[in-house]
Amino acid sequence: MVGGGVAGLVAAHDLAARGLRVTLVEAEDHLGGAVGAHQVAGLVMDSGAESFATRSRAVPDLLEELGLGDRVVQPRRGGSWLFLPEGAVPAPDSGILGIPADPTAPRLRAAIGRAGVVRAGLDRRLPAFVGMTERSLGGLVRVRMGERVLERLVAPFTTGVHSAHPDDLDVDAVAPGLRRALREHGSLGAAAGALRRAAPAGANVAGLRGGMNALSEGLVRELERAGVKLVTDYDVIALDRDPRREGWMVIQRQPRRGEKTAVARGELLVVATDGATAVRLLAGHRHELQRFTPEPGPQVALATLVVDEPRLDGAPRGTGLLVSEDARAVRAKALTHATAKWDWLREAAGPGRHVLRLSYGRAQPDASAVPPEVALPDEQLIRLALSDASTLIGVPLRPAQLAGADIVRWRSALPRAGVGHARRVAEFRRALAQLPDAVAVGGWLAGTGLASVVADTRSQVRALLAEAGVPEAAAPPGSGPARTDIDPTRRKD
Ligand SMILES: Cc1cc2nc3c(=O)[nH]c(=O)nc-3n(C[C@H](O)[C@H](O)[C@H](O)COP(=O)(O)OP(=O)(O)OC[C@H]3O[C@@H](n4cnc5c(N)ncnc54)[C@H](O)[C@@H]3O)c2cc1C
Repeated sequence: MVGGGVAGLVAAHDLAARGLRVTLVEAEDHLGGAVGAHQVAGLVMDSGAESFATRSRAVPDLLEELGLGDRVVQPRRGGSWLFLPEGAVPAPDSGILGIPADPTAPRLRAAIGRAGVVRAGLDRRLPAFVGMTERSLGGLVRVRMGERVLERLVAPFTTGVHSAHPDDLDVDAVAPGLRRALREHGSLGAAAGALRRAAPAGANVAGLRGGMNALSEGLVRELERAGVKLVTDYDVIALDRDPRREGWMVIQRQPRRGEKTAVARGELLVVATDGATAVRLLAGHRHELQRFTPEPGPQVALATLVVDEPRLDGAPRGTGLLVSEDARAVRAKALTHATAKWDWLREAAGPGRHVLRLSYGRAQPDASAVPPEVALPDEQLIRLALSDASTLIGVPLRPAQLAGADIVRWRSALPRAGVGHARRVAEFRRALAQLPDAVAVGGWLAGTGLASVVADTRSQVRALLAEAGVPEAAAPPGSGPARTDIDPTRRKD
């Protein structure tokens, strides 16, 4: 197994549960990838993902298996806001991805104006087939509800969550089931409302007490218990065929302690890295995989500020704001008022102390360019974040009120599900099937988000095991055939 983000950890968990001996190799010195923790002003909280979509049972079922089911919590229902060129307005919250379920809702008027409301209302009168051939989310929303809904409601959402404009996102990848619901319900608003209602208790997302990092922690604990060999701080640089027997050899580099390589061997291979790395590692064995090298995803930076300001106790902007690209007063693309969103964090912080999480890094015309805010040194980005937070929340915040701050930068952690994503993934997997003892998993294939990553990883691992003829019945972890092992002899590069 290569890669120890959530996809890799889940794959290792499912392989071990079927009685296989598993070795997992991770480049960083910690496991969990984009689902991790950091400590700011004494508060331990998520450094990346902080919630999961409740549209499917994928994550809740996994959490139950890990004994974490009782830690699932709902965000507070304070509502969220939009920051538009003219200022902050409450966001319509009845649909999904910013698509309003009810185009006549009073909140909508403040966000898109009367003309926008009239145009959005047309959605209800258009025949269901209008827009069905649109492959991008942007194309579908534009044709059904018009430009104002697209640019003022949906674009801030997708820029905040996927770091991409809706025109650059595959509708089936980012909104699975939306086009089917449109066919069934006759309008895009009704479809968005139906998908929203399908989520338990009407909430789109849920989290974990203590943060989503508890998921990575729970998986690692379970892997250790099952005897999975976890090798961190080893950068996998190549995959070779094992000349001594059928199977794979993993060639690693240990970056921090000199240029050493080590070899892990196994009969089955799971590659759970980012897309560019996965293609690079696998293309040596199937050259045609080369053409699936994904475009680099946007680089993002998260600025976490812990501030002492009692006026934030009333959560003046609900759980946070998404920022329209046209709003020039700030450079952040989203702000989460984390202590207003999660009760456990508010209790941990105490009265008057607040956690604000601002994200930076809008998609650049040149996909490989670093967004200017992400390129700023930490100190400057923290100053910018404090000033942006003051504007967004509407309460002036001074440096003296800062109890702590941290910047976390993510590269290649938010792959883009561009138009035609599902077809490209299917083609990639058909080509990879020529290597029947290998699979690739992760957000670059499944689509960004834990619900997609967990569901897809588990189904890929099931298919790999079926192909390899591993019996269905669960055996006690570690008791099965020795499918993988690690060679203790390490040679110099
Ligand atoms: C800032 C941020 C916020 C997010 N918020 C949410 C959220 O609130 N809700 C949600 O559902 N999703 C969220 N996501 C998305 C979600 O976190 C990801 O979709 C998911 O965690 C991806 O998991 P993964 O295992 O595919 O990738 P990753 O977590 O990126 O893991 C890949 C792993 O492979 C390792 N690796 C790479 N190359 C090598 C190599 N050569 N050798 C060995 N190891 C290697 C990496 O070090 C990494 O640990 C967020 C993502 C980010 C970045």
